[in-house]
Formats: sequence, C-alpha cells, structure tokens
Amino acid sequence: MTPLEEEIRALIAAEGPMPVSRYMALCLGHPRYGYYITRDPLGAKGDFTTAPEISQMFGELLGLWAVAAWQQMGSPDAFHLVELGPGRGTLMADALRAARLVPAFGAAAQVHLVETSPALRERQAQALAGIEPSWHDRLEEVPPGPAIVIANEFFDALPISQFVRGEGGWHERRVGLGEGGELVLGLDPRPSPMGEALARHVPPPHSHGAVLEHLESGVAGALGARLAAQGGAALVIDYGYAASGLGDTLQALRAHRFADPLEAPGEADLTAHVDFAALARTVMAAGAAAYGPLTQGDFLVRLGIVQRAERLQQNTNASQRKAITAALNRLAGTGKDEMGALFKVLCLCDPLFGTPPGFGADEAFAEPDA
Ligand code: SAH
Repeated sequence: MTPLEEEIRALIAAEGPMPVSRYMALCLGHPRYGYYITRDPLGAKGDFTTAPEISQMFGELLGLWAVAAWQQMGSPDAFHLVELGPGRGTLMADALRAARLVPAFGAAAQVHLVETSPALRERQAQALAGIEPSWHDRLEEVPPGPAIVIANEFFDALPISQFVRGEGGWHERRVGLGEGGELVLGLDPRPSPMGEALARHVPPPHSHGAVLEHLESGVAGALGARLAAQGGAALVIDYGYAASGLGDTLQALRAHRFADPLEAPGEADLTAHVDFAALARTVMAAGAAAYGPLTQGDFLVRLGIVQRAERLQQNTNASQRKAITAALNRLAGTGKDEMGALFKVLCLCDPLFGTPPGFGADEAFAEPDA
C-alpha cells in the first residue's frame, strides 16, 4: 500500500467517503505524496509524453502565435507571458527562442509560470536559465496587467467531480472503503442539486448509470475574468470533447499504460478529458470571449507546422528527416494514436481583442446544440 493510500483510508474511516474531486486532488497534489509533487512524470521514461516533449515545433509555433497576439494587442511595452502547468519548461523555452525573431516581444514579456510541483519548478528553472521567470502556485497570484496565457495539458490534471444517474436523480460519486478496508467507488445516497444543474447542458437520454463530470477548479473563471478586465488572450490545449456529454473519463496512467484510478494513489497520473463547452461557458460568464475549439491538427497546420517541418528537414540526414515527419504526424495527424484530432484548442480573450490569430471571425464559440 502506498503511504498516500494509508492516509486516504484513514481520512475516509474518520470522515466518511470523499468526493472523487478530493481523491483526485490528494492523489495529484498532496503536499508530501502527491503525484506531481514528488516527481517529473514526463518523457519517454516517465508516465506520459506531451506535445512539447515530442517536438520543438510545437512550442515554436505557439511562440509565434504569442507574438501575433501581442502585436494584435498593440505591442504593449510590458505584458505578462503566463504558462499554466509548464511541465519541464520545454514549451516556454521553444516559444521564446522562436519569438526572438521579434526582439521587442521578448523585451516586453514578463514570464510567469503557474506550477505547484517543486520537482518540475526545478526542471523549468534549468530549461529557462537566463530568462528569470517568476513562479506562482495559482493564476490569481500573477500581478495585474495584460497577459498572454498558454495552458497545454493543464486542465486535464485538475480535479473533477462525478455524478451518476440513479433512481431519484443524480448522485455524487465518492471514494469509500470496502469490506476489506480497500478503496471502492460508491454514491452519495442524497440526490445532488449540482448534478441536476449540470445535466441541463447535456441532451437526453440520461439513462441509469450515466456519468457527468464537472471541473472543480475556479481557474477557468479566474482566467476569463482576468482577460476581460485587463486584456489579453489565452490558448487552452487539451485532450477533450467539444460538446458537454456523458461518460466517465477519469483515467490513470502509469509508465504509459492505463491503470485503475484507485490503485496506487500518488503513483499514477490521474486525468479527465476536458469539457471544452463547459470551459467556454465558464469564461464567457466571467466576461471573456471564446473561439473554437479547433482540433490541434487544424490549428497547427494553420500556424504553419508543415512548412516548419520542411524547413527543419533541410540539411539533415535521412534518419533525422524521418523523425521530423514522425513528429509532424504525431502532433497533427488524425489517426487514433495521433494527437491532431483528439486534442483541441480553445482560445479565450478579452472581447475587445478581436478575432485571435489562427481563428476565423466565424469561429467564435457556439453551443454545439444551439
Ligand atoms: N504543459 C506541460 C506539462 C503538462 S503536465 C507539457 O505540455 O509538457 C501538467 C502540468 O501541470 C505539470 O507541470 C503539473 O505539475 C502542473 N499542475 C498540475 N496541477 C496543477 C495545479 N493545480 N496548479 C498548478 N500546476 C499544476
């Protein structure tokens, strides 16, 4: 049994079954045993790989997107360049290198990293030596002012709650103890008004056993309010779905393999797919505009990933050329093991920002069922 499981069992024994969101928050962010707190989970040797770790092209293109966004804001002399959940700092390092094409951008950018993991903060400091970023535990700590914000595979790591359709309505799912003291999933016997409210966004039928998920974090609302009040734009890139729907997407990944989310708490990465429609509704309610979501493949092609790959392939040998083509396909391809269709890109911005780079004026977010 992991030390965290021991602690969670004791908590449940003392206080009763805990919501899935609390379980997820403990597994990922427990100050001593949390998954992200204790390790660097990225890369081939870790539990999962992300787009910036696959190829430099990803961060470079987002860096050029940020330059275009900054120019659209009127090229302010100072602004905050913020990354939420920056992992190893690879994306930001690649973005800033590509952005050197426009030196005034780098001179104006104050780099802020919102990161809770001490292990990853250390990696970020190495990747960004010479940049002097500031670190924060929460977006709310980033000082006021116009901002360009990037969040790649950040929202999927935030705790969700789950509601299950039963006889009398929607019931919150909880983690409790089985007869042998093991962790088991169960339902709160009381119907949940929150579950009821969420269900209104999902077209019926809501059959018995259907699952609804809800992002607990207030970061989306805070981001929307900030952009609306102080200007700027944000890109949210993640694995997820464009329309709110039913389904249990909580998953555990260990050494690139799926595992049971209740097994080995603190040792596996727990994620849930991002409900982009819910995210867009939240930021719009906070006063910001939303565009997309586009698929990652479409977005990267619009930003010029094909041309960038060709450029990188000049003056390289055959095996390097092959690796670049493989990375291009992995990032932008639409096959089942590729990220191009599964990952989506949502842009959030100040309503006065105008149509964001890479998006069409007719691509403002609209409820998929409207
Ligand atoms: N964006 C990176 C890393 C994705 S992994 C990449 O694409 O490679 C998720 C990142 O979010 C990690 O850096 C993790 O430590 C961070 N993170 C997870 N939960 C967080 C929270 N609640 N607040 C701030 N950072 C968090």
